[in-house]
Amino acid sequence: MGRLQKILIPFLGLVLAFWFYSARETFKPEMLKGKRVIVTGASTGIGEQMAYHLARMGSHVFITARTEAKLQKVVERCLELGAASARYISGSMEDTAFAERVVQEAGTALGGLDMLILNHVGTSYFGYFNGDVGHVRKLLEINFLSYVAMATSALPMLKESGGSIVVVSSMAGKVGFPFTVPYSATKFALDGFFSSLRQEFAIQNVNVSITLCILGFIDTDSAVRAAADVLLVAPAPREECALEILQGAALRRRELYYRYGGTRLPLLLRDWAAELLDYLVRSRYRLDAMKGT
Ligand code: NAP
Repeated sequence: MGRLQKILIPFLGLVLAFWFYSARETFKPEMLKGKRVIVTGASTGIGEQMAYHLARMGSHVFITARTEAKLQKVVERCLELGAASARYISGSMEDTAFAERVVQEAGTALGGLDMLILNHVGTSYFGYFNGDVGHVRKLLEINFLSYVAMATSALPMLKESGGSIVVVSSMAGKVGFPFTVPYSATKFALDGFFSSLRQEFAIQNVNVSITLCILGFIDTDSAVRAAADVLLVAPAPREECALEILQGAALRRRELYYRYGGTRLPLLLRDWAAELLDYLVRSRYRLDAMKGT
């Protein structure tokens, strides 16, 4: 009997584990074929890479950022890669009216919308908080309020298509990070708004998924320029990061962590050992390199 138990219990555990994982839907590129997708902040970095992945999967790609010349090139490349269509509109997300116009123009051009990927990020400084409240307000306009405005404008179309909102955030939007105080504040705000909205969607049976993406350090030009000399961790590749975001979005995941080991696992400490997590975060920086900033 004892021997039987020794074999039976692990065996049952294996069967259950297999059943749990095989029952979870897996990603297939066809899931995004023909989908009408807006990607913001797509002139460079992770947004640019998401546009290319979507193009390879045969989506309709509608991109935006400020720099028209870069957007033109990304659109050309998307068409070469097989996008069902590719368009751009340039402007600044500091202006809420522009954020709303992007959604309206995409809706008119594509005849609706399946996915809204909110990814753009305004320029901030990397260093000790400098007391500039005006900068915090401006960054909130770009990194937070424009996300709210776009999601609000897109909601009728997304309800019709049973679509998705994807919010690109950061580890710095889940736990306090030094040297990016205004940026972190905007990312925490996104979590509050979109996680609360998700609750209301569940109560009201709104079939629109919200995927919050929690990213670690990624090798985009802007991030490497700002932090590579100070951070003791190696950046993860932007192409892979972009693909993971799209997979999580297509599978309508609640949250997406990339890379998992460097983001999700440390965050497990947040509720039970917050001071240890704070210490671990600080230990990832070369603090001597920050002196004088
Ligand atoms: P990035 O390379 O700096 O690209 C930012 C994008 O936003 C560009 O297309 C930029 O284009 C656009 N943009 C900047 N200011 C804008 C404005 N005022 N109005 C409209 N568009 C504007 O950024 P990234 O590193 O790929 O980051 C993408 C997302 O991932 C961001 O939400 C970021 O917070 C998040 N994330 C990144 C990292 C990382 O290590 N890279 C880590 C965690 C989270 P223009 O300059 O042409 O406007």
